[in-house]
Amino acid sequence: MPLQDQFGRVIRDLRISITDRCNYRCVYCRTGNEGAQFAELPLADYLRMARIFVALGITKIRLTGGEPLLRRDISDLVRALAQLRTTEGAPLELAITTNGHLLAELARPLKNAGLSRVTVSMDAVDPERFARITRVPNGYAAVLAGLRASREAGLSPVKVNCVLLRGFNEDQVEAFGRFARDEGVTVRFIEFMPLEEGRVWKPDVVIPLTEILERMARFAPFHEVAHEPSSTARHYRFDDGLGEFGVIAPVTLPFCGACSRIRLTCDGKIRTCLFSLREHDLLAVLRAGGTDEELARLIEHAVANKEERHHIGEPGFVQPGRTMVHIGG
Ligand code: SAM
Repeated sequence: MPLQDQFGRVIRDLRISITDRCNYRCVYCRTGNEGAQFAELPLADYLRMARIFVALGITKIRLTGGEPLLRRDISDLVRALAQLRTTEGAPLELAITTNGHLLAELARPLKNAGLSRVTVSMDAVDPERFARITRVPNGYAAVLAGLRASREAGLSPVKVNCVLLRGFNEDQVEAFGRFARDEGVTVRFIEFMPLEEGRVWKPDVVIPLTEILERMARFAPFHEVAHEPSSTARHYRFDDGLGEFGVIAPVTLPFCGACSRIRLTCDGKIRTCLFSLREHDLLAVLRAGGTDEELARLIEHAVANKEERHHIGEPGFVQPGRTMVHIGG
């Protein structure tokens, strides 16, 4: 019996944050003012937890953070996860979301360790704009090299995530259309969500799905194509067949009804929604000497109580105390 919540949604997709350290300070995410307070567990703890999730029906694991590639032993974790089998006996789908800064040297070892795919976050295709958003000089060239190394290593399809913010990069939509075609990657634009440390989110900073589509239409004509019901992104293909892009619109077009995701934070807490106000402390059970059976019961309890939906933009919306860099995006 797979993991299922009270609304009948089957949970197949686990995101594990393996650190809340990051080498970037993206304006929509991290202030960088948190000092030296970081939380990460030995990779063996994430592995034990992952094994139990998989025995309960998880088929896809995405490693994230913080910046997951800052864990130097990440290939060892990927290698161990690649040995796991789903309840149907198949290999897991294993992905990483990364800012790509260290990917040029790690793409090949990660592929060899058993990684299936990589998503690279990239919010501009212009070095100066890129530096203004990430607040790190000279990152663009490193990320581009990482993206190309991933493609060459066969970590395909390489996806690029781009968060659009008014006043920073909304004019990059068309440039990304060209970039996706030139580089053979799928770009997915993401609406800015209120999960940032700086508390700067306002509805008018969000570039909505409709505006993204209007801007892209100025680059080239495209049409919508079908997507998996549980996919976060809407998919579009250019009419001439050369390339595609996606839009993840949690603010203006929420997809909570089809959500198949659950998250494990870097300090071992289960979150059933990005916007959860409550977490389930899996690490505490593990540290108290809990058996696999006891850990499994807590996971099932958390899933059963998954929130029906988020309430972004509604009166009374409460931004969670933890932000994206700590939750894991
Ligand atoms: N450091 C890695 C990276 O940059 O991809 C992984 C962690 S990052 C938190 C994961 C994803 O969340 C990135 O694609 C990032 O752009 C996105 N993200 C962070 N804060 C966000 C926000 N407030 N709204 C929407 N997406 C956000």
